[in-house]
Amino acid sequence: MRSADPKLLTIMDRGRALLFTVVTRGSSARTDSLDQVKRRAYLTATLAGLPAVLLVWLSMGPDGIVANTIFSLFVLFYLACVLALWSRAVSIALAERTMFLGVVLFTFIHLSYVLYATGSLAGARTTITEVTYTTLTVLYVVAYLIFDSRTALRVSLAIFGLELFAVLAKALTEAPTGPNQAEIMWLLRMHAFMGAVIALIYTSSYLKEQLLRQRETAQAMHRLAHTDQLTGVANRRELYSELLKETEESERYERPLSIIFFDLDNFKSVNDTYGHDRGDGVLREVVEATERVLRSTDRLGRWGGEEFVVLAPETDLAEASLLAERLRAEIANHHSGSAPTVTASLGFAQYEAGDTPETLIKRADQALYKAKILGRNRAVPADWGRGGPIFAPTRAEGRSEPSV
Ligand code: GH3
Ligand code: MG
Ligand code: MG
Repeated sequence: MRSADPKLLTIMDRGRALLFTVVTRGSSARTDSLDQVKRRAYLTATLAGLPAVLLVWLSMGPDGIVANTIFSLFVLFYLACVLALWSRAVSIALAERTMFLGVVLFTFIHLSYVLYATGSLAGARTTITEVTYTTLTVLYVVAYLIFDSRTALRVSLAIFGLELFAVLAKALTEAPTGPNQAEIMWLLRMHAFMGAVIALIYTSSYLKEQLLRQRETAQAMHRLAHTDQLTGVANRRELYSELLKETEESERYERPLSIIFFDLDNFKSVNDTYGHDRGDGVLREVVEATERVLRSTDRLGRWGGEEFVVLAPETDLAEASLLAERLRAEIANHHSGSAPTVTASLGFAQYEAGDTPETLIKRADQALYKAKILGRNRAVPADWGRGGPIFAPTRAEGRSEPSV
């Protein structure tokens, strides 16, 4: 087999990438990932359906040149869709709408042909039941994957109405003898079934949307109740429950835990000099500066006003001292635009046996008070209480095998 010219392949790849970027430009990262899922799903579905389509095509009898041409065109269209999905040459939104419209179009062309070119309604009955109604039922379902519920309902009803119109028009042309009772019952049965399918899909989709909306509202309310609105970090309620959890784990597993309590120095004068809005901006910038220093396992929360608390799990007093000093320096050296320079005083304490969130906070607060008295812009360790420190097991202890 002759291999393709690598240069040509590179040019084709670049062209494809360019086209894909142009078509999908502006879509957010979130829609991109949903698009990828949809592309994979459509590709899997169309590839799964490909053998069936090809088999029908290959086994087609001499149904007449028109029927064969219609189906051959459909097969070509189907293959083009698979190729477009696989090559990512078009955006998923365009691909799914084109596929949907194409299938609708071919279904109606086929239906018109069966109804008006091949004799009576009675003669077309089996083909319409097997091909048209099966395809339409699939389309009613697929519409909900492509459009929002309301649009999907409108699209489904429009297709339903069009098809009903085509079949009824045929029935009327057969008057005065008209369709017999069996045909009428068949039409009623089929349309009652498809109407029920449309109603069922719409109801389940509507219910799902309502559930999602309720879940989103509950999540938003939870966020509001646990987040500080100004800075976006945990609020006092959230911080307290985290602290409670951490102290319990520290007690049970004998893991070190430290907290750092800090308060901005002379912050009242920042408000007085630059205004309350600027003061708000400084609070947000201090949070950003703090988050730059923290590790992913540390948690920052606003205790109130210009006071913040850092929870540092797996951190003993010596490590907390280093962290507090890094925090102090980062805040003091932080300059951004017209932001006034602020400093912070910090008190830090390590959890000890018998501590509660309240006693731990109190010891850190007392250390913070000392830092203020000693001249501000400094970090001071808390005194130990009566419980004594909890130390982490050393690496050697942690790894040692149980002796037998
Ligand atoms: P100290 O060094 O002793 O802590 O002095 P301070 O001025 O920071 O302390 P004080 O308690 O006297 O003042 C705290 C100030 O923080 C007063 C208050 O207006 C300000 N503050 C509290 N919450 C906010 C807020 O959400 N936004 C703004 N802009 N200021 C706040
Ligand atoms: Mg202050
Ligand atoms: Mg204060």
